[in-house]
Amino acid sequence: MNDLKDRVVMITGASSGFGREAARMLVSHGAKVILGARREEKLKELCAELGSDASTYMVTDVTSKEQMHALAQHGIKTFGRIDSLVNNAGIMPLSLIKKGRTDEWDQMIDVNIKGVLYGIDSVYAHMLERESGQIINISSVAGKRVMPGSAVYSGTKYAVRAISEGLRVESAGKIQVTCIYPGAFTTELAFTIKDESMMEALMSRGLGAIAQPAERVAESIVYALQQDPGVSVNEIVIRPTAQDT
Ligand code: NDP
Repeated sequence: MNDLKDRVVMITGASSGFGREAARMLVSHGAKVILGARREEKLKELCAELGSDASTYMVTDVTSKEQMHALAQHGIKTFGRIDSLVNNAGIMPLSLIKKGRTDEWDQMIDVNIKGVLYGIDSVYAHMLERESGQIINISSVAGKRVMPGSAVYSGTKYAVRAISEGLRVESAGKIQVTCIYPGAFTTELAFTIKDESMMEALMSRGLGAIAQPAERVAESIVYALQQDPGVSVNEIVIRPTAQDT
């Protein structure tokens, strides 16, 4: 296992959920974190908690290539380099296709797919130049199976899986690539569902009752980051034991 002390890790979607817990856990292991998300108050609070020697933030919308590059440059300027990227920002406004909620489809494609691509683009040349680096992309079990209402969300998460595999084969020998597929964990993600009937359908499946703490997924991010440079944990699927979907 590799020591995380002084490892510089950039995390998107760091204002809540997995991103925030991963930031906390990484700093407790001695890492330094570069945090991006849109809600400045949340980022400011988290950086105050983690300390300015170990954390920095920039308000970042991952759908903007320019803002993603600005975040990476800010991180490099602050900590001298970026060793690892956690491409975590995502939204999940589930709905049936017949509802035609096309604005939400566009948003999911922009955040969940383009955001991941812009994240990779913002650090890739820097990592290739140094012939080392690590990129962790957060997909979902919805990136392995599709349910009514998840067609577009699953589409974006299948895309994250394909992008991760493409990145792995193209960067072999230089960059460690991991794709994580979480099941139901307690975060703010369900609040991105705006279709009321879909929210009711989801509640009736009882996922809220079996969802496990976000820290468990943060631990899987830390585990992937702790691997020796010669080893890549390429995929992690992590669900509540009680989840049968
Ligand atoms: P949260 O809603 O708690 O966190 C999502 C994060 O993404 C927030 O920090 C949010 O910050 C950020 N975000 C959303 N849109 C943008 C944007 N346009 N630009 C920058 N940041 C953005 O949910 P999770 O922690 O659960 O989600 C993290 C990832 O995990 C997502 O990719 C999600 O799809 C995936 N996932 C989650 C599961 C779960 O059970 N919770 C299961 C499977 C996958 P802000 O609003 O401040 O911008």
